[in-house]
Amino acid sequence: MPKVKLTDTTLRDAHQSLIATRMRTRDMLPIAEKMDEIGFFSLEVWGGATFDSSIRYLNEDPWDRLRALKKTIKKTPLQMLLRGQNLVGYRHYSDDIVVKFVEHAAESGIDIFRIFDAVNDIRNMEVSIKTAKRMGAHVQGTVCYTISPVHPIPLYVKMAKELEEMGCDSLCIKDMAGLISPKNAYDLVKALKEEISIPIDLHSHCTSGMAPMSYLFACEAGVDILDTAFSPFAWGTSQPPTETMVAALKGTPYETGLDLILLTEIKKYFEEIKEKYRGILDPISERIDTNVLKYQIPGGMLSNLVSQLKEQNALDKYEAVLAEMPRVREELGYPPLVTPTSQIVGTQAVLNVLMGERYKVVPKEVRDYVKGLYGRTPAPISKEIISKILGDEKPITVRPADLLPPELERVTKEAYELGIVKKPEDILTYALYPAIAPKFLRGETKEEILEMPKSGNGKSAPLPTEFRVDVDGDEFNVKILSAGGGMAISAASGQERPKQIDGSITASMQGMVLKIKVKKGNTVAKGDVVMVLEAMKMENNIHAPHGGTIKDIFVKEGNTVSAGDALLVIR
Ligand code: MN
Repeated sequence: MPKVKLTDTTLRDAHQSLIATRMRTRDMLPIAEKMDEIGFFSLEVWGGATFDSSIRYLNEDPWDRLRALKKTIKKTPLQMLLRGQNLVGYRHYSDDIVVKFVEHAAESGIDIFRIFDAVNDIRNMEVSIKTAKRMGAHVQGTVCYTISPVHPIPLYVKMAKELEEMGCDSLCIKDMAGLISPKNAYDLVKALKEEISIPIDLHSHCTSGMAPMSYLFACEAGVDILDTAFSPFAWGTSQPPTETMVAALKGTPYETGLDLILLTEIKKYFEEIKEKYRGILDPISERIDTNVLKYQIPGGMLSNLVSQLKEQNALDKYEAVLAEMPRVREELGYPPLVTPTSQIVGTQAVLNVLMGERYKVVPKEVRDYVKGLYGRTPAPISKEIISKILGDEKPITVRPADLLPPELERVTKEAYELGIVKKPEDILTYALYPAIAPKFLRGETKEEILEMPKSGNGKSAPLPTEFRVDVDGDEFNVKILSAGGGMAISAASGQERPKQIDGSITASMQGMVLKIKVKKGNTVAKGDVVMVLEAMKMENNIHAPHGGTIKDIFVKEGNTVSAGDALLVIR
């Protein structure tokens, strides 16, 4: 009797998709032992955006989380999502960093490595696959599923065969945007089953509403593993619900054999956890959005896009940005939209709309992508875009990491010099996130305060006031808005910065000052890069609009700025 196995994603993809990856370890540990009892094929608990989010927003060490979960979850294999040569970051790392990271992740408790590459370039997956195999881990080779004129079924089959030949233990069809229809799921799984013999996992999102039906059709075609999440963290931009799939498959040849009673107990726990995070749960992520069929934006990205636009005070541009995305994607050679290509296409689309002129501002990452530094794109990038972005420079054709010299020795030395190494993995954290890791490793990162869940009749109080309340050990920031005036006291930042100073260069978007390349008194020429602003996880150069002398600098490296904040004055 064929039996279908389930991978539960509640502790990774589900909260990444619905609550911007903000679930705390202390909300995972109390239920981990029970989850271990269910008999899942695996629990996806690490990787993806969890690493970044932990050190950026939660003041949590991701390695500590992994070890804590491993200590509690003794029977079920722990799974992580690894972005090939990008690991859990947004750029390609040198081979020695990739090897070290995968070794350390395996030693810290990862049993199954789901490894993918955003443009399906296998060359970018080789080093991590080989290392994970050498460490004795199960490797789930992954094909990123997308729909485009250059993505027919035989292309996926060819890639899957190559992954099997490389020694992958199972194959994942990663439908990160929830695009796969029941018929396409059936046809794809069927075609793969005929050509490969390793188990096949289908990973989808409910974004378009089709995922549960596609799962059923995939079962009919012989799928071995399905990805689900507990119902409070399912649906919307997340996975289909675990309990629903278990009940739906009961009595069929695809029976999961999992205990619904026990599942319901766990579901109850996650219902309470969800209430705690209600304040950051955007209704847009929770609903079915058939636009995804047109725009092809992965689950995690929709909720991130909403928070990015909110940060930029431009939520009204949501529809315009959604419409710009397929255009940018086509021009960039139809990459599947998944980290980091989703950020690359998404941020460029946001910039094209916000700046009012297409490709006026091009972040470093987009430039690198066009240069070939993320790998071979599914279709060639439009010639017009290449010349617009690269000028006379020629894109590369080799494996991107072949051009990267070993980095481990240098970053190790740097990390020690900064005095931030307390344990070996601190070097890796620093290697991956050099801009934010020092602050985190020094213990200067504050845990982001949760927003108070919005109550149904949240009418404004007469006086503006703000306070913090403690609910179950978690601090919430409560803002009381004044009646009528739209006046609000925002989170006390303590750093007042002048806005709109005559002749000053201002930030065009919300972000963090990554680098200041000039000092007071320096002379600059028109077009010189004076600062690098990290916004939407991308590096954006700020150019001098005219030549002159730096008269004043109002920000420091590491400062957070809002759109319109004065950065410096050139006279
Ligand atoms: Mn996903």
